[in-house]
Amino acid sequence: MHPRLSVVVPMYDEADVLPLFVEQLRPVLDGVAEVDGAYEVVAVDDGSSDATPVLLQRFHREWPQLRVVRLRANSGHQAAISAGLAAARGDWVVTLDADLQDPPETIAQMLAVTREQDVDVVYGVRTDRRSDSVFKRTSAKAFYGVMRAAGATDIPSGAGDYRLMSRATVDAVNALPETHRVLRLVVPSLGFPSATVGYSRKPRAAGRSKYPLAKMVRLSVDSLTGFSLAPLRLATWFGLGGFVAAVVLLGYAVVSKLVGGTVAGWTSTVAIVAGVGAVQLLCLGVLGEYVGRIYSTMQGRPTYFVAYDSLTGPPDRDAAP
Ligand code: UDP
Ligand code: MG
Repeated sequence: MHPRLSVVVPMYDEADVLPLFVEQLRPVLDGVAEVDGAYEVVAVDDGSSDATPVLLQRFHREWPQLRVVRLRANSGHQAAISAGLAAARGDWVVTLDADLQDPPETIAQMLAVTREQDVDVVYGVRTDRRSDSVFKRTSAKAFYGVMRAAGATDIPSGAGDYRLMSRATVDAVNALPETHRVLRLVVPSLGFPSATVGYSRKPRAAGRSKYPLAKMVRLSVDSLTGFSLAPLRLATWFGLGGFVAAVVLLGYAVVSKLVGGTVAGWTSTVAIVAGVGAVQLLCLGVLGEYVGRIYSTMQGRPTYFVAYDSLTGPPDRDAAP
């Protein structure tokens, strides 16, 4: 029997928060089930190395609706959500974090919206981010500012990865050929009718953030290169600017040679060489990011491998390839 609602939860080393998460999520979903019908929780274990898999097995035994999908290696937040979306069977699919920053009660509100309005996506938008660090808030603001300037104008302000999607939306996401998807940008770009529900962002209930700076930078670069050619165009403008500056400098050099018989010194030469070198390297880096993206899309390798799904059992190792 296929469930009405799938709840996709990416988890990486979340053993500290998992019992609390299950304790808070379960009553919400049991309540929702009375109105909306059966549900499944797709817990995507993103290659955790702590007690997460052990705990998940235990919870799976006492809570049959909890389904465990384990990835072979740590593949990242977005890949883990993608794996969950591919596995989910529900007519509606909601994605949320395991650390209780996204309060489970909001799921019921999101479903209520779909009963009142004819929408395919309900975004959870953070009305209150006081619990996030100043750095997180500032960097998020800068990120969305840049993305909007670069053309991704349809992202609802304050939306993250807490959202409810219809089957049609999930199928559309699953069918995308892109491998390195940034879902919070991909979903709005599909253009399905949508609504928003506000929620107050809670502090992480336990454990530590799994989003170090390097992962945040990776997400930003993936977002920008996946959604916009603006950096490439910027590189062209840098080139044009450099060309104009070169012509002016050349004119100046020739004139001062004719007038004074000499060209002013060392500092300007070093400045020019260093400046041009820096701009060239920057532009090469930008180009490299796009080439890398083309390369990985061409290869078409999945960004994750499922090692185990409690619904179907482990993959048969002896099966002929
Ligand atoms: N996560 C994941 N794989 C990763 C990093 C994070 O599945 O490589 C999960 C994590 O377990 C959590 C969600 O993604 O459920 C968001 O991560 P986190 O709360 O650490 O990020 P933050 O809220 O600090 O941005
Ligand atoms: Mg978090």
